[in-house]
Amino acid sequence: MTKKIILHFDMNSYFASVEQQANPWLRGKPVGVVATMTSNGCIIASSREAKAVGIKTGCRVPEARQLYPGIILIEVDPSKYRSTSQRIFSICAEYTEAIETYSIDEAFLDLSGLVSSYEQAVQVARTIQRRIRDEVGEWLRCSMGVAPTRWLAKFASDTAPKGGVVVLTQNNLYSYLQGRDVEQAWGIAGATAARLSELGVTTLDQLARYPVSNIMSSLGIRGYHLWANVNGIELGGLEAKRPPKSIGHSHVLRRRTRDIRFYQSVIMRLCERTGRRLREQGLQAGGIYYQTRLEHRGSVGGSKKVHHPIISTTQIYRHVWEALGDELSRDIPNFFAVGLFRLQPQVNQLTLFNKRASMSTELSQALDEINSRYGEETIVRGPLLRLGQVHAPDRVGFRQSVEAEFNGIRELQYGKD
Ligand SMILES: [Mg+2]
Repeated sequence: MTKKIILHFDMNSYFASVEQQANPWLRGKPVGVVATMTSNGCIIASSREAKAVGIKTGCRVPEARQLYPGIILIEVDPSKYRSTSQRIFSICAEYTEAIETYSIDEAFLDLSGLVSSYEQAVQVARTIQRRIRDEVGEWLRCSMGVAPTRWLAKFASDTAPKGGVVVLTQNNLYSYLQGRDVEQAWGIAGATAARLSELGVTTLDQLARYPVSNIMSSLGIRGYHLWANVNGIELGGLEAKRPPKSIGHSHVLRRRTRDIRFYQSVIMRLCERTGRRLREQGLQAGGIYYQTRLEHRGSVGGSKKVHHPIISTTQIYRHVWEALGDELSRDIPNFFAVGLFRLQPQVNQLTLFNKRASMSTELSQALDEINSRYGEETIVRGPLLRLGQVHAPDRVGFRQSVEAEFNGIRELQYGKD
Protein backbone atom coordinates (compact mmCIF):
# COMPACT_ATOMS: atom_id res chain seq x y z
CA MET A 1 0.00 0.00 0.00
CA THR A 2 1.04 3.52 -0.55
CA LYS A 3 1.82 5.78 2.36
CA LYS A 4 -0.87 8.31 1.59
CA ILE A 5 -3.57 9.16 4.10
CA ILE A 6 -6.79 10.16 2.37
CA LEU A 7 -9.92 11.38 4.10
CA HIS A 8 -13.31 11.32 2.41
CA PHE A 9 -16.35 13.00 3.90
CA ASP A 10 -19.97 12.86 2.91
CA MET A 11 -22.64 15.01 4.55
CA ASN A 12 -25.56 12.94 5.84
CA SER A 13 -29.04 13.60 4.40
CA TYR A 14 -27.58 16.86 3.22
CA PHE A 15 -30.37 18.92 1.62
CA ALA A 16 -32.88 17.94 4.29
CA SER A 17 -30.41 18.56 7.12
CA VAL A 18 -29.64 22.03 5.79
CA GLU A 19 -33.38 22.74 5.79
CA GLN A 20 -33.66 21.44 9.36
CA GLN A 21 -30.67 23.55 10.32
CA ALA A 22 -32.36 26.65 8.88
CA ASN A 23 -35.70 25.89 10.53
CA PRO A 24 -35.45 24.23 13.97
CA TRP A 25 -39.15 23.35 13.88
CA LEU A 26 -38.34 20.77 11.18
CA ARG A 27 -35.78 18.97 13.31
CA GLY A 28 -36.56 15.45 14.42
CA LYS A 29 -39.36 15.22 11.87
CA PRO A 30 -39.68 13.37 8.57
CA VAL A 31 -38.91 15.98 5.92
CA GLY A 32 -38.78 15.52 2.16
CA VAL A 33 -37.14 18.01 -0.17
CA VAL A 34 -39.00 18.16 -3.47
CA ALA A 35 -37.96 19.72 -6.77
CA THR A 36 -41.36 21.27 -7.12
CA MET A 37 -44.45 21.48 -4.96
CA THR A 38 -46.81 19.33 -6.99
CA SER A 39 -49.10 16.59 -5.75
CA ASN A 40 -47.22 13.93 -7.71
CA GLY A 41 -43.71 15.35 -7.22
CA CYS A 42 -40.61 13.41 -6.48
CA ILE A 43 -38.62 13.56 -3.26
CA ILE A 44 -35.03 14.34 -4.13
CA ALA A 45 -33.72 14.24 -0.56
CA SER A 46 -35.19 12.91 2.67
CA SER A 47 -34.27 13.66 6.26
CA ARG A 48 -32.89 10.89 8.45
CA GLU A 49 -36.30 10.74 10.17
CA ALA A 50 -38.01 10.32 6.80
CA LYS A 51 -35.58 7.55 5.87
CA ALA A 52 -36.39 5.86 9.17
CA VAL A 53 -40.05 5.53 8.11
CA GLY A 54 -39.03 4.20 4.69
CA ILE A 55 -39.16 7.38 2.60
CA LYS A 56 -36.16 7.22 0.35
CA THR A 57 -34.70 9.58 -2.20
CA GLY A 58 -36.65 9.22 -5.42
CA CYS A 59 -39.90 8.38 -3.61
CA ARG A 60 -43.07 9.95 -5.02
CA VAL A 61 -45.11 12.31 -2.88
CA PRO A 62 -48.26 10.10 -2.81
CA GLU A 63 -46.16 7.07 -1.85
CA ALA A 64 -44.42 9.13 0.84
CA ARG A 65 -47.76 10.26 2.25
CA GLN A 66 -48.86 6.65 2.46
CA LEU A 67 -45.75 5.72 4.38
CA TYR A 68 -46.05 8.73 6.67
CA PRO A 69 -49.07 11.02 6.31
CA GLY A 70 -47.40 13.80 8.30
CA ILE A 71 -44.37 14.08 5.98
CA ILE A 72 -43.30 17.72 5.67
CA LEU A 73 -42.43 18.77 2.13
CA ILE A 74 -40.01 21.59 1.40
CA GLU A 75 -39.16 22.96 -2.01
CA VAL A 76 -35.51 22.64 -2.98
CA ASP A 77 -33.38 25.72 -2.31
CA PRO A 78 -30.07 25.26 -4.18
CA SER A 79 -28.48 28.52 -3.10
CA LYS A 80 -28.88 27.54 0.56
CA TYR A 81 -27.13 24.19 0.02
CA ARG A 82 -24.43 25.78 -2.08
CA SER A 83 -23.59 28.47 0.45
CA THR A 84 -23.58 25.93 3.29
CA SER A 85 -21.23 23.73 1.25
CA GLN A 86 -18.87 26.60 0.73
CA ARG A 87 -18.64 27.11 4.47
CA ILE A 88 -17.98 23.41 5.02
CA PHE A 89 -15.35 23.23 2.27
CA SER A 90 -13.60 26.33 3.57
CA ILE A 91 -13.17 24.65 6.97
CA CYS A 92 -11.61 21.65 5.18
CA ALA A 93 -9.36 23.97 3.20
CA GLU A 94 -7.73 25.07 6.46
CA TYR A 95 -6.24 21.59 6.80
CA THR A 96 -4.98 20.86 3.31
CA GLU A 97 -4.81 22.43 -0.11
CA ALA A 98 -5.11 19.01 -1.69
CA ILE A 99 -8.88 18.76 -1.88
CA GLU A 100 -10.89 17.09 -4.58
CA THR A 101 -14.48 18.27 -4.44
CA TYR A 102 -16.57 15.30 -5.50
CA SER A 103 -20.07 16.71 -5.21
CA ILE A 104 -21.97 19.42 -3.40
CA ASP A 105 -21.60 17.51 -0.12
CA GLU A 106 -18.61 15.24 -0.62
CA ALA A 107 -14.87 15.75 -0.92
CA PHE A 108 -11.54 13.97 -0.68
CA LEU A 109 -8.74 15.49 1.40
CA ASP A 110 -5.15 14.33 1.10
CA LEU A 111 -3.82 14.56 4.67
CA SER A 112 -0.48 12.93 3.87
CA GLY A 113 1.60 16.04 4.44
CA LEU A 114 -0.34 17.08 7.54
CA VAL A 115 -0.42 13.94 9.66
CA SER A 116 1.94 11.03 10.08
CA SER A 117 -0.41 8.43 11.51
CA TYR A 118 -3.96 7.20 11.18
CA GLU A 119 -4.60 8.22 14.80
CA GLN A 120 -3.78 11.80 13.90
CA ALA A 121 -5.93 11.58 10.78
CA VAL A 122 -8.88 10.46 12.91
CA GLN A 123 -8.29 13.46 15.18
CA VAL A 124 -8.43 15.74 12.14
CA ALA A 125 -11.61 13.99 10.98
CA ARG A 126 -13.28 14.43 14.37
CA THR A 127 -12.13 18.06 14.55
CA ILE A 128 -13.66 18.82 11.16
CA GLN A 129 -16.90 17.09 12.19
CA ARG A 130 -17.03 19.16 15.38
CA ARG A 131 -16.20 22.39 13.58
CA ILE A 132 -18.95 21.80 11.02
CA ARG A 133 -21.40 21.41 13.91
CA ASP A 134 -20.05 24.43 15.83
CA GLU A 135 -19.40 26.82 12.97
CA VAL A 136 -21.85 25.85 10.23
CA GLY A 137 -24.75 24.18 12.01
CA GLU A 138 -25.39 21.90 14.98
CA TRP A 139 -27.80 19.75 12.96
CA LEU A 140 -25.23 18.90 10.28
CA ARG A 141 -23.54 15.52 10.43
CA CYS A 142 -21.09 13.83 8.14
CA SER A 143 -19.66 10.38 7.71
CA MET A 144 -15.94 10.10 7.19
CA GLY A 145 -13.56 7.52 5.86
CA VAL A 146 -9.78 7.48 6.32
CA ALA A 147 -7.66 5.14 4.21
CA PRO A 148 -4.46 4.90 2.16
CA THR A 149 -6.27 5.23 -1.18
CA ARG A 150 -8.96 7.46 -2.59
CA TRP A 151 -11.26 4.52 -3.36
CA LEU A 152 -10.96 2.94 0.08
CA ALA A 153 -11.55 6.30 1.77
CA LYS A 154 -14.86 6.67 -0.06
CA PHE A 155 -15.79 3.06 0.56
CA ALA A 156 -15.05 3.62 4.27
CA SER A 157 -17.24 6.70 4.55
CA ASP A 158 -20.02 5.11 2.46
CA THR A 159 -20.14 2.23 4.90
CA ALA A 160 -19.48 4.26 8.07
CA PRO A 161 -22.26 4.79 10.61
CA LYS A 162 -23.93 8.20 10.15
CA GLY A 163 -21.77 10.83 11.77
CA GLY A 164 -18.98 8.32 12.31
CA VAL A 165 -15.40 7.81 11.17
CA VAL A 166 -14.15 4.51 9.72
CA VAL A 167 -10.43 3.90 9.27
CA LEU A 168 -9.21 1.26 6.87
CA THR A 169 -5.59 0.17 6.91
CA GLN A 170 -3.77 -2.91 5.76
CA ASN A 171 -4.34 -4.30 9.26
CA ASN A 172 -8.13 -4.23 9.29
CA LEU A 173 -8.99 -4.11 5.58
CA TYR A 174 -9.66 -7.80 5.02
CA SER A 175 -11.66 -8.28 8.18
CA TYR A 176 -13.71 -5.21 7.21
CA LEU A 177 -14.41 -6.66 3.76
CA GLN A 178 -15.36 -10.03 5.23
CA GLY A 179 -18.88 -11.07 4.28
CA ARG A 180 -19.87 -7.69 2.81
CA ASP A 181 -21.97 -7.86 -0.31
CA VAL A 182 -20.06 -6.73 -3.42
CA GLU A 183 -22.76 -4.15 -4.12
CA GLN A 184 -21.70 -2.23 -1.01
CA ALA A 185 -18.57 -1.20 -2.89
CA TRP A 186 -18.38 2.12 -4.67
CA GLY A 187 -18.94 1.48 -8.37
CA ILE A 188 -20.21 -2.08 -8.22
CA ALA A 189 -23.86 -2.48 -9.12
CA GLY A 190 -26.28 -4.70 -11.03
CA ALA A 191 -24.51 -5.96 -14.14
CA THR A 192 -21.03 -6.06 -12.62
CA ALA A 193 -22.33 -7.79 -9.51
CA ALA A 194 -24.02 -10.37 -11.75
CA ARG A 195 -20.77 -11.07 -13.62
CA LEU A 196 -18.90 -11.44 -10.36
CA SER A 197 -21.56 -13.75 -9.05
CA GLU A 198 -21.03 -16.01 -12.09
CA LEU A 199 -17.45 -16.36 -10.89
CA GLY A 200 -18.74 -17.30 -7.45
CA VAL A 201 -17.80 -13.90 -6.02
CA THR A 202 -20.58 -12.39 -3.94
CA THR A 203 -18.64 -10.78 -1.10
CA LEU A 204 -15.86 -8.22 -1.09
CA ASP A 205 -13.36 -10.44 0.70
CA GLN A 206 -13.92 -13.07 -2.01
CA LEU A 207 -13.25 -10.40 -4.62
CA ALA A 208 -10.05 -9.27 -2.89
CA ARG A 209 -8.67 -12.83 -2.71
CA TYR A 210 -9.80 -13.99 -6.16
CA PRO A 211 -7.00 -14.66 -8.69
CA VAL A 212 -6.85 -11.39 -10.56
CA SER A 213 -6.20 -13.01 -13.94
CA ASN A 214 -9.48 -14.93 -13.68
CA ILE A 215 -11.41 -11.76 -12.92
CA MET A 216 -9.72 -10.06 -15.86
CA SER A 217 -10.61 -12.81 -18.27
CA SER A 218 -14.25 -12.25 -17.38
CA LEU A 219 -14.37 -8.48 -16.83
CA GLY A 220 -11.27 -7.19 -18.61
CA ILE A 221 -9.43 -4.16 -17.32
CA ARG A 222 -12.49 -3.20 -15.32
CA GLY A 223 -12.01 -6.44 -13.39
CA TYR A 224 -8.48 -5.40 -12.57
CA HIS A 225 -9.71 -2.03 -11.31
CA LEU A 226 -12.26 -3.65 -9.02
CA TRP A 227 -9.71 -6.07 -7.67
CA ALA A 228 -7.06 -3.36 -7.19
CA ASN A 229 -9.53 -1.05 -5.45
CA VAL A 230 -10.56 -3.55 -2.81
CA ASN A 231 -6.93 -4.52 -2.27
CA GLY A 232 -5.90 -0.95 -1.51
CA ILE A 233 -3.91 -0.34 -4.68
CA GLU A 234 -4.13 3.31 -5.74
CA LEU A 235 -5.25 3.67 -9.33
CA GLY A 236 -5.77 7.38 -9.73
CA GLY A 237 -5.21 9.43 -6.62
CA LEU A 238 -6.86 12.74 -6.02
CA GLU A 239 -7.95 14.40 -9.19
CA ALA A 240 -7.83 18.01 -8.12
CA LYS A 241 -4.14 18.38 -8.86
CA ARG A 242 -4.29 17.46 -12.52
CA PRO A 243 -6.72 19.78 -14.23
CA PRO A 244 -7.26 18.98 -17.91
CA LYS A 245 -6.16 21.43 -20.60
CA SER A 246 -9.57 21.56 -22.20
CA ILE A 247 -13.05 20.11 -21.83
CA GLY A 248 -15.43 19.67 -24.73
CA HIS A 249 -18.06 17.64 -26.49
CA SER A 250 -19.13 17.20 -30.09
CA HIS A 251 -22.12 15.71 -31.82
CA VAL A 252 -22.93 14.50 -35.32
CA LEU A 253 -26.51 15.23 -36.37
CA ARG A 254 -28.28 12.26 -37.86
CA ARG A 255 -31.27 14.27 -38.91
CA ARG A 256 -31.27 16.78 -41.76
CA THR A 257 -33.53 19.63 -40.75
CA ARG A 258 -33.95 23.39 -40.94
CA ASP A 259 -35.49 23.47 -37.47
CA ILE A 260 -33.46 26.07 -35.61
CA ARG A 261 -34.93 25.06 -32.26
CA PHE A 262 -33.60 21.57 -32.86
CA TYR A 263 -30.10 23.02 -33.34
CA GLN A 264 -30.54 24.99 -30.13
CA SER A 265 -31.49 21.81 -28.31
CA VAL A 266 -28.45 19.91 -29.51
CA ILE A 267 -26.12 22.80 -28.70
CA MET A 268 -27.68 23.20 -25.27
CA ARG A 269 -27.03 19.53 -24.57
CA LEU A 270 -23.38 19.87 -25.58
CA CYS A 271 -23.09 22.98 -23.39
CA GLU A 272 -24.72 21.18 -20.47
CA ARG A 273 -22.36 18.21 -20.71
CA THR A 274 -19.34 20.44 -21.10
CA GLY A 275 -20.41 22.73 -18.27
CA ARG A 276 -21.13 19.84 -16.02
CA ARG A 277 -17.68 18.34 -16.47
CA LEU A 278 -16.16 21.77 -15.86
CA ARG A 279 -18.03 22.22 -12.60
CA GLU A 280 -17.53 18.64 -11.43
CA GLN A 281 -13.83 19.34 -11.48
CA GLY A 282 -14.26 22.67 -9.69
CA LEU A 283 -12.92 24.57 -12.70
CA GLN A 284 -13.75 27.74 -14.56
CA ALA A 285 -12.78 28.56 -18.14
CA GLY A 286 -11.13 31.61 -19.65
CA GLY A 287 -11.68 30.57 -23.25
CA ILE A 288 -14.26 28.88 -25.43
CA TYR A 289 -14.29 27.25 -28.87
CA TYR A 290 -17.19 26.25 -31.07
CA GLN A 291 -17.52 24.65 -34.44
CA THR A 292 -20.20 23.55 -36.83
CA ARG A 293 -20.08 21.83 -40.21
CA LEU A 294 -22.52 23.25 -42.73
CA GLU A 295 -23.90 21.67 -45.85
CA HIS A 296 -22.91 24.57 -48.11
CA ARG A 297 -20.26 26.56 -46.32
CA GLY A 298 -18.32 23.69 -44.78
CA SER A 299 -16.61 24.02 -41.44
CA VAL A 300 -17.32 27.24 -39.53
CA GLY A 301 -16.23 28.12 -36.05
CA GLY A 302 -13.67 29.82 -33.91
CA SER A 303 -12.36 30.36 -30.43
CA LYS A 304 -11.97 33.29 -28.13
CA LYS A 305 -10.65 34.26 -24.75
CA VAL A 306 -13.20 35.75 -22.37
CA HIS A 307 -12.93 38.38 -19.64
CA HIS A 308 -15.46 36.96 -17.23
CA PRO A 309 -14.73 33.37 -16.31
CA ILE A 310 -17.18 30.84 -17.68
CA ILE A 311 -18.78 28.51 -15.14
CA SER A 312 -22.43 28.02 -15.98
CA THR A 313 -24.09 26.19 -18.85
CA THR A 314 -26.05 29.33 -19.71
CA GLN A 315 -22.81 31.29 -20.16
CA ILE A 316 -21.41 28.63 -22.48
CA TYR A 317 -24.60 28.50 -24.50
CA ARG A 318 -24.77 32.28 -24.90
CA HIS A 319 -21.23 32.45 -26.30
CA VAL A 320 -21.83 29.61 -28.72
CA TRP A 321 -25.18 30.86 -29.97
CA GLU A 322 -23.87 34.39 -30.36
CA ALA A 323 -21.09 33.06 -32.58
CA LEU A 324 -23.00 30.47 -34.61
CA GLY A 325 -26.64 31.52 -34.52
CA ASP A 326 -26.53 33.61 -37.71
CA GLU A 327 -24.73 30.94 -39.70
CA LEU A 328 -27.26 28.34 -38.64
CA SER A 329 -30.18 30.42 -39.83
CA ARG A 330 -28.75 30.30 -43.38
CA ASP A 331 -27.48 26.75 -43.79
CA ILE A 332 -27.99 23.18 -42.63
CA PRO A 333 -25.52 21.81 -40.08
CA ASN A 334 -24.54 18.19 -39.55
CA PHE A 335 -21.99 18.59 -36.77
CA PHE A 336 -21.44 20.68 -33.63
CA ALA A 337 -18.52 20.95 -31.23
CA VAL A 338 -18.20 23.02 -28.05
CA GLY A 339 -15.17 23.26 -25.82
CA LEU A 340 -13.57 25.24 -23.03
CA PHE A 341 -9.91 26.04 -22.42
CA ARG A 342 -7.71 28.20 -20.14
CA LEU A 343 -9.08 26.15 -17.26
CA GLN A 344 -8.41 27.21 -13.69
CA PRO A 345 -9.72 26.26 -10.26
CA GLN A 346 -12.96 28.09 -9.52
CA VAL A 347 -12.80 31.17 -7.39
CA ASN A 348 -15.17 30.59 -4.52
CA GLN A 349 -16.45 34.09 -3.90
CA LEU A 350 -19.44 34.35 -6.14
CA THR A 351 -19.53 38.07 -5.36
CA LEU A 352 -16.66 38.45 -7.81
CA PHE A 353 -19.15 37.90 -10.57
CA ASN A 354 -22.22 39.89 -11.16
CA LYS A 355 -25.36 38.62 -9.53
CA ARG A 356 -26.81 37.19 -12.68
CA ALA A 357 -23.72 35.09 -13.36
CA SER A 358 -23.72 33.73 -9.84
CA MET A 359 -27.42 32.87 -10.00
CA SER A 360 -26.89 30.83 -13.11
CA THR A 361 -23.84 29.18 -11.54
CA GLU A 362 -25.89 28.14 -8.54
CA LEU A 363 -28.62 26.80 -10.72
CA SER A 364 -26.09 24.85 -12.76
CA GLN A 365 -24.60 23.38 -9.63
CA ALA A 366 -27.99 22.36 -8.30
CA LEU A 367 -28.80 20.69 -11.60
CA ASP A 368 -25.46 18.89 -11.50
CA GLU A 369 -26.23 17.65 -8.02
CA ILE A 370 -29.60 16.26 -9.03
CA ASN A 371 -28.16 14.76 -12.21
CA SER A 372 -25.42 13.04 -10.30
CA ARG A 373 -28.04 11.50 -8.02
CA TYR A 374 -30.36 10.39 -10.77
CA GLY A 375 -28.09 9.87 -13.72
CA GLU A 376 -26.93 12.10 -16.50
CA GLU A 377 -29.61 14.35 -17.98
CA THR A 378 -32.33 13.37 -15.56
CA ILE A 379 -33.02 17.06 -15.45
CA VAL A 380 -32.61 18.86 -18.70
CA ARG A 381 -33.03 22.44 -19.67
CA GLY A 382 -35.92 23.66 -21.76
CA PRO A 383 -34.36 23.37 -25.24
CA LEU A 384 -33.40 19.75 -24.60
CA LEU A 385 -37.02 18.77 -24.29
CA ARG A 386 -37.52 19.43 -27.97
CA LEU A 387 -35.10 16.69 -28.88
CA GLY A 388 -37.86 14.16 -28.46
CA GLN A 389 -37.18 10.52 -29.23
CA VAL A 390 -34.53 11.05 -31.89
CA HIS A 391 -31.89 12.15 -29.44
CA ALA A 392 -33.15 10.54 -26.28
CA PRO A 393 -30.25 9.32 -24.15
CA ASP A 394 -29.39 5.76 -25.05
CA ARG A 395 -29.57 4.36 -21.57
CA VAL A 396 -32.01 1.97 -20.02
CA GLY A 397 -33.78 3.63 -17.16
CA PHE A 398 -36.55 3.03 -14.75
CA ARG A 399 -37.37 6.48 -13.47
CA GLN A 400 -40.70 8.02 -14.19
CA SER A 401 -40.96 11.49 -15.53
CA VAL A 402 -42.27 14.43 -13.58
CA GLU A 403 -42.58 18.05 -14.51
CA ALA A 404 -40.50 20.41 -12.48
CA GLU A 405 -40.13 24.10 -12.11
CA PHE A 406 -36.91 25.33 -10.69
CA ASN A 407 -36.18 28.79 -9.38
CA GLY A 408 -38.57 30.39 -11.81
CA ILE A 409 -36.86 28.81 -14.80
CA ARG A 410 -39.52 27.07 -16.79
CA GLU A 411 -39.57 23.86 -18.70
CA LEU A 412 -37.16 21.83 -16.64
CA GLN A 413 -38.10 18.23 -16.51
CA TYR A 414 -37.05 14.99 -15.05
CA GLY A 415 -36.78 13.05 -18.26
CA LYS A 416 -37.54 9.43 -18.76
CA ASP A 417 -34.01 8.16 -19.16
MG1 LIG B 1 -24.33 12.91 1.29
